[in-house]
Amino acid sequence: MEHDFYTSSDISPDDNWGQLNIVDGGLSICKVCKGMEGSLTTDCPGEPVPFDTDQKVYKGEIDFVEGKGWVEQISQHSPEYWRKKRGE
Ligand SMILES: [Zn+2]
Repeated sequence: MEHDFYTSSDISPDDNWGQLNIVDGGLSICKVCKGMEGSLTTDCPGEPVPFDTDQKVYKGEIDFVEGKGWVEQISQHSPEYWRKKRGE
């Protein structure tokens, strides 16, 4: 499944952090797995991802792919993916 991101309609007007970062800043946070930006997997695992797993995704160690499950690869959302792409 695809990640289900918070949108402006999910953020209350008095949620300053949400308004600043999600509505204005376009920060991507999934309502289901709670992954955020660099810790987002390729496909949504459909359940909250534990902190340790979330950190491994961020570091480019594992990824979740529909039909395959958890695999040892770099998610395109991980900062590591861009680091490699830039040739560092
Ligand atoms: Zn998700």
